[in-house]
Amino acid sequence: MPRINKKATPSYWSKKKDMSKRTYVEKRYNTRRWKKARAIYIKENPLCVDCNKLATVVDHIKPVRLGGEFWDKDNWQSMCGICHNRKSGYESKL
Ligand SMILES: [Zn+2]
Repeated sequence: MPRINKKATPSYWSKKKDMSKRTYVEKRYNTRRWKKARAIYIKENPLCVDCNKLATVVDHIKPVRLGGEFWDKDNWQSMCGICHNRKSGYESKL
């Protein structure tokens, strides 16, 4: 029996498409300006606001998706990946 190449099946690609549609990507996160600002912010605020471990992400306290201000540092907080994932998981249900 020949092995089926998963990537060649239409269902594989339609699934892929659905996934990219579902994932909300804020374009500004990919800009050089944001990466630079984020790096500086984490340097100044190196600890996760939730668990005090080393922060790796800058989180928007009020999600941009829900009307939070993207560039306002008052709306930023340092978070580790774990806490950030938990927060964004919770927010996706809002
Ligand atoms: Zn944390």
